[in-house]
Amino acid sequence: MSNPHSIPTAEERVLATLNKDGSRRWLRPRLSPGRFLIGRKAVGYALIVLFAALPYIRINGKPAMLLDLPNRQFTFFGRTFLPTDTLLLAFLLLTIFVTIFLLTALFGRVWCGWGCPQTVYMELVYRPVERFFDGKHYKSGGRVPLSAPRAIGKYLTFLLISMFLAHVFLAYFVGVETLAQWVRQSPLSHPAAFLVMAGTTLLMMIDFCFFREQMCTLACPYGRFQSVLLDRQSLIIGYDVKRGEPRGKLKKDAPASTGDCIDCKACVVTCPTGIDIRDGLQLECIGCAQCIDACDTIMDKVGKPRGLIRYSSQQAMEEGRSRLLRARVVVYPLALIVLVSLFSLTLAKKGSADVSFLRHRGQPYQVLPSGDITSTLLIKIVNRDESARSYRVTVDGVREQRSGDLPLLLEPGASGQITLHLTVAPDRFAEGRADIGVRVEDGAEFDRNFPHHLMGPLYSGGNRGNMPQGGTR
Ligand code: SF4
Ligand code: SF4
Repeated sequence: MSNPHSIPTAEERVLATLNKDGSRRWLRPRLSPGRFLIGRKAVGYALIVLFAALPYIRINGKPAMLLDLPNRQFTFFGRTFLPTDTLLLAFLLLTIFVTIFLLTALFGRVWCGWGCPQTVYMELVYRPVERFFDGKHYKSGGRVPLSAPRAIGKYLTFLLISMFLAHVFLAYFVGVETLAQWVRQSPLSHPAAFLVMAGTTLLMMIDFCFFREQMCTLACPYGRFQSVLLDRQSLIIGYDVKRGEPRGKLKKDAPASTGDCIDCKACVVTCPTGIDIRDGLQLECIGCAQCIDACDTIMDKVGKPRGLIRYSSQQAMEEGRSRLLRARVVVYPLALIVLVSLFSLTLAKKGSADVSFLRHRGQPYQVLPSGDITSTLLIKIVNRDESARSYRVTVDGVREQRSGDLPLLLEPGASGQITLHLTVAPDRFAEGRADIGVRVEDGAEFDRNFPHHLMGPLYSGGNRGNMPQGGTR
């Protein structure tokens, strides 16, 4: 009788990375050389070089990419964005999302297989290191025990690679100059940064040594969204059922009715997520094209045409034709054009300074015994320029302006506030407001006029007998 407390064994494998008894099925995908592997290597190694080089590249004297969190400044390709650029950031994020939707609708999971850091580093960096150190152990699928020197060599190399990548990652947040100083100092002189580097290294070790393909098959939200982002015309990697089935081992006396698939399983043992592409389109497929390279090699050997597994679409595989033009490939580009135009327009309208008017707490105005109205104006200025600027403010349409904050000297990226005390003639007010012009200039290129209105008593000109001496509106 079976133990009632034991975990029941599943009738069939539920996940490619789980055995029937629920234990982890460790994958050791076989490398399949071929034209797509060459292409993926070219793209993948170029991306790795780009990732490591970007913090060093300077555009307009600034790093190509710097995410300066403490100072809340974000530099992309020579342009610095500030927290006040929320509209720009919103347009940028929406543009990225719509681009992902469009690329997925057209090219399926090409990003996962060719550009995603998880695939690129796992398959082009960590996996080759593992194959090198494991040797026979790798080829035996783990049945040959790994000797201690090999295990130490493997995990030490993993650690060094992870530490290098963690330092590059840190350079995106602190800049290469600061990083170069830190690596020569004791970690105690910059403990927070050291902890970030150590934490990133640890996460990479967990991911690339243990979690691996489960990041794609279980954790990645992009993978989960595939079923809504793809349609039947999207580019996928698929097995030609019509041509391949009924599959059968290659034998001299095999019946003529056998399909082209010789059931060699080369496409299965090479798959980094452990699936069988012949079972149809699956969420776990990351589009790495290793099964194409594996099957093409087999087809060459058995003298059959390549392409039993190939890039195609579900519709083309089933009906022999595919439709490129459909609603989503028209709507997404249109949305992209609108978003990019809005982004460019907002960017072009941005001057070298951000000026905003803040609300003054307390009474909005006071009526002096002379009848004049006094009001306080708060102006916030953000210097978006690359050099320090000295800002001056002059107000048009007032009797007098006083401020102890002028001129306001601001370092690049810094913000400051000016408090202006204004005295306005009563005949400037109509319907409880007076229109004024506020000119802000930095003595260099920034010189702008901002229309503004001050709140005041509800009378105009000589009709002021019914108003208290101190407004509260
Ligand atoms: S590699 Fe090709 S021939 Fe071999 S099992 Fe896969 S589909 Fe069939
Ligand atoms: S099924 Fe083919 S393309 Fe998909 S992950 Fe496996 S090997 Fe890569």
